[in-house]
Parts: sequence; C-alpha cells; structure tokens
Amino acid sequence: MLNEFLGKIDLAFGLLGADLWRYNALKLLQTARKRLGSRGLAATGAELLEPATAWLDRTFTSPVSKALLAPWALHNGLGPDDASSAFITKVIGAAVALGGMPVPVGGGVKLVDALLGIVTDNGGAILTNADVAKINISGGKASGVTLADGREFVANKSILASTTPHALYNDLLAGQQLPPEVSRSVETFRYGRAAIQIHLALSEPPLWKADPALKDVAIVHVLDDMNSLSESVNAANRGYLPARPTIVVGQPTSVDPSRAPEGKFILWIQLQENPRKIAGDLAGVIDPGDGTWNQERLNAYADRVIAQLCEQITNLQSATLAKVVLGPQEIEAMNHNLVGGDPYSGDCRIDQYALWRPLASATGHKTPWENLWHIGASTHPGPGLGGGSGYLVAKRLTSKKLFGR
Ligand SMILES: Cc1cc2nc3c(=O)[nH]c(=O)nc-3n(C[C@H](O)[C@H](O)[C@H](O)COP(=O)(O)OP(=O)(O)OC[C@H]3O[C@@H](n4cnc5c(N)ncnc54)[C@H](O)[C@@H]3O)c2cc1C
Repeated sequence: MLNEFLGKIDLAFGLLGADLWRYNALKLLQTARKRLGSRGLAATGAELLEPATAWLDRTFTSPVSKALLAPWALHNGLGPDDASSAFITKVIGAAVALGGMPVPVGGGVKLVDALLGIVTDNGGAILTNADVAKINISGGKASGVTLADGREFVANKSILASTTPHALYNDLLAGQQLPPEVSRSVETFRYGRAAIQIHLALSEPPLWKADPALKDVAIVHVLDDMNSLSESVNAANRGYLPARPTIVVGQPTSVDPSRAPEGKFILWIQLQENPRKIAGDLAGVIDPGDGTWNQERLNAYADRVIAQLCEQITNLQSATLAKVVLGPQEIEAMNHNLVGGDPYSGDCRIDQYALWRPLASATGHKTPWENLWHIGASTHPGPGLGGGSGYLVAKRLTSKKLFGR
C-alpha cells in the first residue's frame, strides 16, 4: 500500500503544501497530468475523495489492520466515513513510516521556545497577554491594531491574523462593510467535534495487557474496531456521547524519559469524538441536562473512558498519582480559536478544506483589505503544528516582485 502511495507522495504533499490560489498550484496540476495522463488524473481525483472505510474494506481483510489505520484520520478532524479520509490516512501513514513521530525533548514548550528564538534572533519581538481587540482600517488598507488595553500598534507592511473567520470578520473588523459573498461564507463557517484531554501522572509504567511492549509506543489508539470508530464519530456529530469511544493514548515518557522522575511515567489521553453540545448519551447513562460540558458531565464521561482503558492497562487505577481533565470549555478558555473545544478551529470536512478553507468564497489567505492576511488552522492547509498557512503567506510577502525590490 505504501509503495503504491509513495509513487505519488510528491503530488500528495505538494497538494497539501501548495498555495492553491497561486500559479504553483496550476504547475502541480500540470505535473500530475503529465505523469498520470488525463484519465489517471481523474482516477486520482476519485482516490483523493474516497472514505477510509471503503478503502480499508477493499484493501485489508484483518479487522486489526483496519482498526490500526482507521483512527489516524481523526488527527486531521475527519471520521472514517468522511470524504478524503482514506487520502489523509495514507498521508499520515506515509509521514509516520518515513519520518516517525517527532516529539520535542523536554516537552511541547520547546517547540514554542525554538520558534520564539527564530523571531527574537532576527530582531523581532513577541508580546503575550496582549489581546487584539480591533484591526484598524484606513483607506481600504489594514493599518494597525488596537489591543484590549487600549495600546495601538501601527503596521507598516502587513497584518497576519491567526484567528477563526468569526473572530476576524465579526469581532476584529466589526463595523467594516464586507462583500456580501464573504459575509455569507463567514455566516456558514462551522466548527467540528470537541476535544477532551486527560493527563495522568503514574507511579510506574503502564502494564498493557495485550502486549507489554506497548508501553514503548509514543501513541496507541484503543478502540474495539473500525465500526466502533465509525459509530462514535457519527454519534458525536449528532450530539451524542459515544458508548465505546476511541481513546488516543500518548506516552511521551516512552520516547523522552525527561518528562517524568525516574521510574515514573506520564500519559495523556485524547478524545476526539465529543459533541460540542451534548444532546444525549449513546450508552443511556449520562443525563445531557442543558447540553453544556459542566464538571459533572465531564467527569462522568472521563470515568467511562478511564474504565474502558483499565480493560487494557491493568495497573492504571493503582498507578495513578494525579489526574487533570480538560473538557471543551477549558480548552476553549485557553485559546479563543478553539471554539466549543474544536481543536482544529473549524470542521475539516471537504467542503471546508483546501480551496474552501477558510471561506468558500475567499481567495485563500487574502482578505478584502490590502495588507491584511488570514492565517492559522481555520485556513488552508488546515490544522496541525506545521505552521503551513503562515509559511505560505510569508513566502508571498517576501517573494521578489517582477521588477525587483
Ligand atoms: C488538545 C489538542 C491536541 C492537539 N494535538 C496535536 C498534535 O499532536 N499534532 C498536531 O499537529 N496538532 C495538534 N493539535 C492541533 C494544533 O495544536 C493546532 O492546529 C495548531 O496549534 C494551530 O496553530 P495556529 O498557529 O493556527 O494557531 P493557534 O495555535 O490557535 O495559535 C493562535 C494564537 O493566537 C492567539 N490569539 C487569537 N486571537 C487573538 C487576539 N485577538 N489577540 C491576541 N492573540 C490572539 C491565541 O490565543 C493563540 O495563542 C492539537 C490541538 C489540541 C487543542
């Protein structure tokens, strides 16, 4: 499977990395047509849209192989029945097979420190706890920003807003006249399923029942099978709490022992099949109440997940020293962009992806105002720690004009 996919990997990564509203995207299309022919290109288009369940059923007979691969599309905001989930699974499969699963030694903050260093080493400055309340427009151009505390900053060149479309157009640009088609697209932009994150400190490494060697794997997906995944995603999309959720278990200590004192271990659990607002419980146990993720409902659901994980990790209860549960409300409170706890700042299904991200009517990262660019997970190429959208806009801003600069 990988061999076949690797033959087209440059096209796949090219598509995900390209600025789709620039000439380079056309060049990529021409390269693909030359290599694959017109019919081959059309067939590749269909392959790009195939759902993972159809592809996995066709390709594998073992339920274990299907369950091994199917959850990966969750990490790009897709369920296994969604269009393009097969393509995303192949992309992630290839990335993991070729590049492994990089984890910053010392914790995720090291990645932030490294990026900070690039900015400050080049004479830049970073302000935190500085909420932008307004983007100032003068003469049709973005000219600066005003912070919530009243401070103003002038932008001589450009403003890049890493926000959701709602925050950008409804809040930061409130009062500005929007072209009607942009306004309509902003109105229809939707968010995806919410995330829940559970962090555990353990007094000893986990004892995995299926195979003790699983303690050395950076990320393990725990699920019954591909059908339980499909059921849980669909339940969450319809507002229901899944009965048998897919549990993503991160074991950073396995690849970076500095994360915990000697002999001890940390685990994080990620759940991606959660409704933003609870309409019901597929298991019929948790009362949805007013549908909000209050502490009672969050803890009841976290207990279900831990109980399910105890079936696989036999010492989980006895080894747990401390537990922190972050629900959709807590996740949104940490970052305004994660609306309703959506970790990907917008539903990633195909109608809100690629050409149509951030807005069906927008031309990529451009906005109706000169000098103002829209970047971040709500924009192409979507969520993830690749910083792709900022890179694409930076390339535009630094590319040489035809007559030099
Ligand atoms: C729990 C969780 C786990 C994840 N795991 C992974 C993973 O393992 N791998 C992966 O690739 N991706 C992962 N993701 C997704 C990934 O974190 C995001 O897609 C990515 O961080 C998006 O980056 P960004 O630069 O677009 O914006 P963000 O990370 O959202 O950063 C934007 C920043 O701008 C700030 N901001 C917004 N509005 C304003 C304003 N008006 N004024 C001032 N500041 C403002 C926000 O506070 C925020 O700090 C995860 C997400 C979550 C929530």
